[in-house]
Amino acid sequence: MFRALPTFWIAACAALFAAAQAVACSAIDFTELTLPQDSRPPAVRALLAAYPDLMLSPDGAAISRDGANWLPLGTARDIGPRQALVDASPMDQFLQTYPLGSSPEALEQRTAPFFDPGRFRNTPLFAMLWFSSEAAARNSLVRVGFSGLSDGAVMVTSHRGVDCQLRAVVARLDGGSGAVKAAFRTPGGGFNWRRISGTDRLSAHSYGIAVDLNADLGGYWRWSGATEGQVGAYDNRIPPEVIEAFEAYGFIWGGKWHHFDGMHFEYRPELILHSRIAANTR
Ligand SMILES: [Zn+2]
Repeated sequence: MFRALPTFWIAACAALFAAAQAVACSAIDFTELTLPQDSRPPAVRALLAAYPDLMLSPDGAAISRDGANWLPLGTARDIGPRQALVDASPMDQFLQTYPLGSSPEALEQRTAPFFDPGRFRNTPLFAMLWFSSEAAARNSLVRVGFSGLSDGAVMVTSHRGVDCQLRAVVARLDGGSGAVKAAFRTPGGGFNWRRISGTDRLSAHSYGIAVDLNADLGGYWRWSGATEGQVGAYDNRIPPEVIEAFEAYGFIWGGKWHHFDGMHFEYRPELILHSRIAANTR
């Protein structure tokens, strides 16, 4: 009996810890979040609202997480998409406004060549927000299962509650149609520390903030045989409720890109908020 006590207490503590984690997991619906109302540029407002621990320098020109290392925001420059893909300043990331929702208007914007909102990424900002080493990213990983939708699971980061946001997506879709469940079958994966094919830039999967669903349904522009900048129609088979659930919890969808990546969802709450702020201020 005496020897059994430690085991009991370990089990009890583990149960309490799990319960505390469940309570601590409070997902944010970024399509409902109250928008910041001030005179700062929409992109700055979106960044600070999406990542409340970021600080803005007094002159509004740089951001920091620790007050010691300041990253210049730059300006949204008049540069072409090819340059923005390889050399985006933090502000250049917002050159194109991500279209929210699953309306025909939102889905048709991708027919414009190089309309790829979310593909312009500033690597130093991603290092500040997420990780600058594979080891740090790996240390943060947790498994999120698609229980209720499929027997699949992916590894994503727990940093900034990304795992919690993904669990909220799954919970919202639980009980969905066969098409919804099919999208979550045999997922392509989450965390993967790797460079984007043909480039020296880290993929969003490196930070554990991206999820690939069923590749058979998603579609990828390179597999279509298209030429860059001249990608044709995208045969979407991802149900609208899946797109909307991901967007609510901060994930943009690659199916809205000219260079479509229909299986790819990426945690970019700043782009969801920027889209809403831009719609209100125009
Ligand atoms: Zn992906």
